Amino acid sequence: MPVIKPTCVRDLKLRVNLADVVSRVVTLRKAGGARLKGLCPFHNEKSPSFHVDPDKGFYKCFGCGKAGDAITFVRETELLNFSEAVEALGKRFGVVIEYEEGTGGPSTAERSLRQEIFDLHDAAADHFYQAFKGRDSTGDFMRALWTEKRRFPMDLADEYKIGAADEAGSGLGEFLLRRKYSEEALRRCGLFFIYDNAQITLGAMRPRFRGRLMIPIRDHQGRVVAFTARQTDLTPQDDPAREAKYVNSPETPIFTKGNLLFNLDRARSAVGDGKPFVLVEGQLDAMRCWSVGLKTAIAPQGTSITEGQLVLLRRYCAQVECFFDSDGAGQKAALRFLPMALKAGLEVRFLTLAGEQKLDPDLLFLERGMAGYDDVRRDAQSAMAFASRAFLPDAATATAEQRARAAQNVVEILAVSESDAVRTQLIREAARFLWLEPKSVEKEYTAFAARQSRQAAARPSSSPPPEEPAPGKAEETAQTPERHLLLLLLHFESLGKPLSHALPPDANWVDPNHTAGRLLNRFLGEFEHDAWPGRAHLDGLLETPDERTLVANLVFEAPTIEDPLKVAQEGLKLLRARALEPRLRQIELALANPHADSDSDPISLLKERSELQRQLRTPLILTAAV
Ligand code: ZN
Repeated sequence: MPVIKPTCVRDLKLRVNLADVVSRVVTLRKAGGARLKGLCPFHNEKSPSFHVDPDKGFYKCFGCGKAGDAITFVRETELLNFSEAVEALGKRFGVVIEYEEGTGGPSTAERSLRQEIFDLHDAAADHFYQAFKGRDSTGDFMRALWTEKRRFPMDLADEYKIGAADEAGSGLGEFLLRRKYSEEALRRCGLFFIYDNAQITLGAMRPRFRGRLMIPIRDHQGRVVAFTARQTDLTPQDDPAREAKYVNSPETPIFTKGNLLFNLDRARSAVGDGKPFVLVEGQLDAMRCWSVGLKTAIAPQGTSITEGQLVLLRRYCAQVECFFDSDGAGQKAALRFLPMALKAGLEVRFLTLAGEQKLDPDLLFLERGMAGYDDVRRDAQSAMAFASRAFLPDAATATAEQRARAAQNVVEILAVSESDAVRTQLIREAARFLWLEPKSVEKEYTAFAARQSRQAAARPSSSPPPEEPAPGKAEETAQTPERHLLLLLLHFESLGKPLSHALPPDANWVDPNHTAGRLLNRFLGEFEHDAWPGRAHLDGLLETPDERTLVANLVFEAPTIEDPLKVAQEGLKLLRARALEPRLRQIELALANPHADSDSDPISLLKERSELQRQLRTPLILTAAV
């Protein structure tokens, strides 16, 4: 295993700004002082409790307790191990990562599988793109399809790296084999069909995508993680998915379906300030929007939208305009989207093409550009207007019974909203569009809610047993003297040297069985050797996730201490008492019952007692470092 040099990790941490790292995932706002806050990426929340302190280099969520530094953040949000996270940050911030002598750099075989599959996708996207640009029959065909049939500009293809796979797969297998990817990566990247027990040879790698237009799918950080392949006239007869208009990559170690929205990597920095996300049906629609200057369009990956995707969206912007095709399928999809959006706390509006039924959004943008968008936007429908019209197209002439039935349907949708205030508002609005009294929709809702809670009560309880506290959790918050000293050390670094001198090195006062104790010993050792790197650069000193979490937590505490020296002294005294007093009591017990303990002679016990008493009486005086 290659080991990254600790000095290198230290340099990296000097270079990296935690706010930059976090803001790729979380929208941050000022939170007083140098601190920033945003919606926690580790749990679902509506008001921000995720705090970042760029000066100290630590973050902490006061909602779910997650805490750490830039490296932990990258590890947890990108699912990487320590070395991968350091390498990823190094790449992003232009720091060359060096490895300990003799441990070797990351050879292809040693790189983690995920990182390798990311690389492989990057290379594959490039390969398909070159084929798309190629001056041969495939390239010519695909470019013509792009510009003439789909009427997309060429620079859009360059921007999104649109690619082409010829009838034989464009030699992707050969290309990747030359680049020496591991067998495991080639097997699991999803770009080939390979029999389980087959050796990896060019012949055994049957390309999944042949004769198709290749659209790279990027995650919200812009990394290619999969492909969508559009059927063309070149799609061969023996393609197992010949009839499928679109074929997507299967799930792989880097791609989970339903976890990703197309174009979010670009759109997320364009939303806000009155610019909502615009949810369109397909990837080509989203690219069309981009090409006419509507930079906030996103599309579900595949057909279904999941709650997870919407929670991700909400981190960037809570306003979404849903603009699906005006045909039956599109409108149904829009209606399915609505309750999920309400549940995720999104403010959703619907854009529809009334009176222009033949136009789909793609054509509208193609023919009218942003002007077309501005027009449909003027007639945007609120969530309840849309739902009410879907269930009751003509409220004015509907019978009382039709209205009641529509109200039942609408109520089922708005019931998912978790905010009472929002729900009340929605009920009032729905009543208006259904031509009903708000009171009667309210009654419908009450009846529905009652029915639901009766059903919930009747179901056998399936709630999981109360969570066992994770090991280390209790210890992390336990107010041991070690934790207290560690807190002091991190907030008053000048205490380190005097503490390291005052604590006898062979005294075993500190309990190394707990994270806080181990860290205290380690930190004091650094102070003793004048090697303390400073609290923002502790990475080389932190070995486990528990240690990182504890340090981040302590950094975020704001102790109000007038005389840290004195408090540290008290802490030391507690440590000493805890270490020595039990033995003292034991000796006294033995001396009081001379026959119960025949092993030890009273003389040595008396000697030991006076030595312990002397130690306990010795004043512990810390002097501030000079
Ligand atoms: Zn959280």
